[in-house]
Amino acid sequence: MKKVLCLFMALVMLCFCGCTTDPKDDGFNIVCASFAEYDWVKNLTLGTDVKVDILADTGTDMHSYQPTAADILSISKADLVVYNGGTADGWMTDAIKNSGFKGKSIRIMDTIGKGLIHQHHDDDHQILTSYVEYDEHVWLSLKNAVIACNKIAHTLAELDKTNQEKYNQNCTDYVKKLETLDKDFADAIGEGKSVVIADRFPFLYLMTDYKLNWHAAYEGCSSETDADFEKVLSLAKTVDKEGINTLFIIEGGTDALAKTVISNTASKNQQILTLDSMQSVTKKDIESGKNYLDTMAKNLENLKKALN
Ligand SMILES: [Zn+2]
Repeated sequence: MKKVLCLFMALVMLCFCGCTTDPKDDGFNIVCASFAEYDWVKNLTLGTDVKVDILADTGTDMHSYQPTAADILSISKADLVVYNGGTADGWMTDAIKNSGFKGKSIRIMDTIGKGLIHQHHDDDHQILTSYVEYDEHVWLSLKNAVIACNKIAHTLAELDKTNQEKYNQNCTDYVKKLETLDKDFADAIGEGKSVVIADRFPFLYLMTDYKLNWHAAYEGCSSETDADFEKVLSLAKTVDKEGINTLFIIEGGTDALAKTVISNTASKNQQILTLDSMQSVTKKDIESGKNYLDTMAKNLENLKKALN
């Protein structure tokens, strides 16, 4: 047993030394914590041989993801680490600090100024200001995506000068697509309309971007307690009062709560649609082409079905 262990250690040492003598031998490599930033970085590095990895791609909800030993090893060897920076990937902070990581890191939440969200001034203002500081789902705003991509591209261009022009061009191209979709949202959604979400609520940024009023079963994204019946009745009442035809749930969840709400409305004939918050994307989803822009476009299609 001891011999096997020694051999294993020797192999590890050999590999470790071999791999770390000159990190540039491996090329420039980027590690992203989860899906949105991974997809952005993939787009920004198009046409380069930069290696981009995602850690949380097992389909586990971001909020319950635990990093593996292999994740920590990837982080330690990365030239650039990109992560969201909320409680969901709070483990990244420790991993960056304790893994021996010597590269540069971008915390997306640091790149998003609060000013953007403060542009929203409606009846819900008071609720909003208490949310703004804590909501971590910053990627669910195309406007935030533009800011984050500019920051990432700028950092890439500084760190990896050989591909500088590609990063700049990719950023211009991708940001154009983000801005076009943002305009599509704004054009399609009339301000001040109401959306009912019979589920967790990671969509604060999406709702505020297009001045939607939201009524959600839960305030944020943690759902440790079930919604009580009072909440069900209040959502049903909103549906009746505002003539709402759609209840939204989030991806990977259950429609049980939505069905209970519907059964408490007058007409009981509302449809249930999904808003995808991209919090539990699998490697398989990515391989079959799932990407940030298409997912947001699909969210827009479903919002249109609810609002028009
Ligand atoms: Zn969440």
